[in-house]
Amino acid sequence: MSHYLNYVGGEWVAATSGTKHEHFNPANPSVCVGTTENSTSEDVDQAIIEAKQAFVNWKEMSPVARGEILRKAADLLEQDVQDIAEMATKEMGKRLVETKGEVLRGAMILRYYAQEGMRKMGELLPSMNPQNTLYSMRVPLGVVSCITPWNFPVAIPIWKMAPALIYGNTVVWKPAQETGLTAAKIAEVFEKAGLPKGVLNLVNGSGSTVGNALVEHKDVSAITFTGSNQVGRLIASKAVATNKKFQLELGGKNPVVVLEDADLDLAAKLTVEGTMKQTGQRCTATSRVYVVESIYEQFKEKLVEKVKEIKTGDGMQEDVTMGPVASSKQFDTVTSYIAKGTEEGANILYGGKALKGEEYSGGYFIEPTIFENVTNEMTIAKEEIFGPVLAVIKVADYQEALDQANDTMYGLSASLFTSNLDKAFHFIKNSEAGMVQINGETGGAEPQAPFGGMKESSSGTREQGQAAVEFFTAYKTVAITSFL
Ligand code: NAD
Repeated sequence: MSHYLNYVGGEWVAATSGTKHEHFNPANPSVCVGTTENSTSEDVDQAIIEAKQAFVNWKEMSPVARGEILRKAADLLEQDVQDIAEMATKEMGKRLVETKGEVLRGAMILRYYAQEGMRKMGELLPSMNPQNTLYSMRVPLGVVSCITPWNFPVAIPIWKMAPALIYGNTVVWKPAQETGLTAAKIAEVFEKAGLPKGVLNLVNGSGSTVGNALVEHKDVSAITFTGSNQVGRLIASKAVATNKKFQLELGGKNPVVVLEDADLDLAAKLTVEGTMKQTGQRCTATSRVYVVESIYEQFKEKLVEKVKEIKTGDGMQEDVTMGPVASSKQFDTVTSYIAKGTEEGANILYGGKALKGEEYSGGYFIEPTIFENVTNEMTIAKEEIFGPVLAVIKVADYQEALDQANDTMYGLSASLFTSNLDKAFHFIKNSEAGMVQINGETGGAEPQAPFGGMKESSSGTREQGQAAVEFFTAYKTVAITSFL
């Protein structure tokens, strides 16, 4: 069992609280995987002081040299893939194949942003004054607070920190308390890659103490947050009050629409994968499927055929295709939504039970669950469940499916399965989601493509790709007047 300290000012240091947080394996909660520090607001103050000091030199370093450090970090991440992925699986339950994929994706994101150091950071503009040279340049913001969730413990922090760093900011990072061990391994990678002291600081601890201190501190210039809508709203109100730049990526309730002309086998396969991958704990996971009535019965059968193939168990085992949910809190939330679905009149088509008994070692296992006879008014069709639960909803036609798919406060991703080009283009235009897929599952992101939602799924900024420059830099406009 390992214990990890905070990483502040280039040193591994204990928190001033003198207390530790224990991390238990969700596949077998009697096993303590390791411990991290319970930090205080004083520890956050110190990390921000270090980040502020480090900013002075880091912003002056050539972006190409900063990129070299990110490239080195990518190499090291790849070398350590097994070790980091195993830690993430033991700490939050995601299958090893999924955590390995996530670590490799982290390396890909680092390489993408390493290259950003060689791209243009401004524009020459025409001026009304012929003696003026007028141009814009992008400058870093200063100290950026990165507050991240547990469900992608490697990729999300990296897709925030890599752009923050390449554009010249320094970072104080608070990972979700559930995934502090994996976070420490990532900080080690950056340390080994040669990041100067204080450029990246890791402070483990609770949201209410550490997260809050990172939001309220006067020397923080910007906050990038991924997590729940409830916490996101709180952060936004505090950021507005102190005029900090903020970015929120929040929850989803992502719909799939299946039309009569779709490849039904593909649609069933990708609807089940979209729902059940990572045990449904992806912000882009499929949670509602709208099926036109002419193919409803046929599609339902295909969904059940596919979901039956899932084998639930400890994600360290190779034959397992779905791991536990990440914590007892998640277990209680998901099982209470399943109970609510039944209470409100939906029928369980498949699954619905918690998996207990010796073979499950007291872990937080839940059967992959499909509800039918669901209406848009039911809680399971409205609220984010963040677990392996799918609501199947029968609709008369495409228009009704689109209207119902859009009838939600969320707007992260949406998919349509069809072979009709007109309907595909109509859906692309009219689906109220930040990411739209035709004949693909609702999840999935590539490092070069903007990622984010509409409506209450996002504050409207975008992460990843070149879109990230908008958040992590400010414009400076320069006019030079010459008289010769
Ligand atoms: P959460 O909101 O509970 O926690 C997210 C982070 O915020 C954690 O680090 C937590 O400690 C911190 N936090 C909690 N209270 C805080 C406070 N008062 N001040 C500052 N920080 C605080 O979310 P979670 O349970 O870790 O993650 C699940 C949620 O994240 C889901 O709603 C999911 O949809 C969302 N998510 C969204 C995306 C996206 O890109 N849109 C991606 C992944 C997850």
